[in-house]
Amino acid sequence: MSADLKILIVEDILTDADLIQRELKKSGLSFTSEIVHTAGSFEAALERFVPNIILCDYSLPSFDAVSAFKIKQALAPDTPFIIVSGIIGEQNAVDLIKSGVTDYASKERLVTLVPKINRALTDWEERAEKRIMAEKLSIQTEALIIANKELVVQNEENKKRAAELSIAYEKLQKAGEELKKQEVVLISESNLRQLADLMPQMVWTAKQDGMIDYYNKQWFEYTGFEEGQNEEGWLSVLHQDDVEPWRKTFNDSIKTGNPFQVESRFKDRKKPLTHRWFLCRWLPVKDSVGNITRWIGTCTDINDAKGKQEELQQTEKRRADFIKMVSHELKTPVTSIKGYVELLMMILEEHKIESFRPEIKNSLFRINHQVSRLTRLITEMLDLSRIETGKLELKNELFSLTQLVNDAVEDISFTNPNHTVKLYSEFSCNIYGDRGRIEQVIINLVTNAIKYSAQGDSIDVYITKAKDNCVDVSVKDNGIGIDKHEHQKIFERFYRVDGKVEETYGGFGIGLFLANEIIERHNGSINIDSEKGKGAVFTFTLPVAS
Ligand code: ADP
Repeated sequence: MSADLKILIVEDILTDADLIQRELKKSGLSFTSEIVHTAGSFEAALERFVPNIILCDYSLPSFDAVSAFKIKQALAPDTPFIIVSGIIGEQNAVDLIKSGVTDYASKERLVTLVPKINRALTDWEERAEKRIMAEKLSIQTEALIIANKELVVQNEENKKRAAELSIAYEKLQKAGEELKKQEVVLISESNLRQLADLMPQMVWTAKQDGMIDYYNKQWFEYTGFEEGQNEEGWLSVLHQDDVEPWRKTFNDSIKTGNPFQVESRFKDRKKPLTHRWFLCRWLPVKDSVGNITRWIGTCTDINDAKGKQEELQQTEKRRADFIKMVSHELKTPVTSIKGYVELLMMILEEHKIESFRPEIKNSLFRINHQVSRLTRLITEMLDLSRIETGKLELKNELFSLTQLVNDAVEDISFTNPNHTVKLYSEFSCNIYGDRGRIEQVIINLVTNAIKYSAQGDSIDVYITKAKDNCVDVSVKDNGIGIDKHEHQKIFERFYRVDGKVEETYGGFGIGLFLANEIIERHNGSINIDSEKGKGAVFTFTLPVAS
């Protein structure tokens, strides 16, 4: 310890204090000291003198070492405190040291005091050093904690920045992808435009709202406009009567999102005051979720086709008018011939002429047969005209189908003695419909069966119950038969099976067309079961009247 060592001596007996000082000096200790002996002076000295060590007598008249120690602990807890006293007993000394007193020295053996002071001071210095170290450590720890906290904050900041950077990176990537897509769209758009320019049609595209944003080369060629020149687009080239229908249809499409097509006339700039017909079609282009992104449309020149179509329609009309007119013209004389033939046959019978001139009856019978055929053909042709003009009217009466088939079979058998027509009637029923027309169907099927089978063959007619409260009437022959692939076609108008055998039979190809039409209009159906060379079975099915 340096010369600054300050010793506070708590002693009421001055000689004892003196002895202590001397002992200290004797051992070469350099120090300054103060002597106190009351609690008040002790407290004051602690604050003012600030001793490095305290040497305290055990018992004083108004004070004692235990009280002094407590005061010291409160005001200067680190300062060493040695009790210097007479005999206080070994146990007392140990208890005092346990309670915190630094050491004890006996007044009788003051020689031990200096080493104890030295040890106490060394301890104190070491403690002080440790304390300083601890303080330094604590400061460093705190600094470390603060640094750590800062690091944590910085770390958080870094994390935030990293997250921001990753978001920014993602955005960049997306933007890059978008750019790529746009590039692809641009490339495919330019490819599409090149393709559109190669097409013979006029092609256009429009935005979602229908604003046209592209026309191909053909549009400019046809209209003679230049890009950006014609604001009104279609409307300025359309025939004035087609403007409104066109506008309406287009606006409807935009509203509903439905594709559409319309035939319109466009001004022909090469032939002033004339127009050409175009088929205009448009449809929406949708994205992956079904939203309309734009519209694409084409206009195809159908002027020539339309002209041909009109021509065809006119030819067809002329043909139909001709058939109608011819049938009407033929009907009157043929009916008259039939009347006269029947009259002659009656006279023949009445006057028994056939007994001496049998060939007359035979000839009249043949004439009657041929005239009946002719009448049927004329009736068929007239019916055809009626169907084509929607004028074939059907009665709706209740009648016995069984009876009708029976009568028809009898009539046909009478006029066709070279064939046997047999009726197998398993089922008897009434139906609602046009008796005459159903009879016509039966006659047609049976006369066909006769016509397309060999002389002497027998024709079988069946009436059978069918499912769903219907009746089947079948006509079966063993004639030339019909190949499967012809089954549908023979019900078409004017269709006749082509072939060497078939050519030998006369006919117009109208009979089955009419039969099918009549049966369908009675809510029925007509079917065929046949193979070439193996005969045929024609069956029509009709609902039974309940
Ligand atoms: P067509 O006046 O020519 O007989 P249809 O319309 O009655 O006209 O018949 C159409 C075609 O169906 C006939 O040309 C014939 O080739 C074929 N056909 C109809 N009925 C029979 C049958 N029973 N056997 C064989 N072929 C038939």
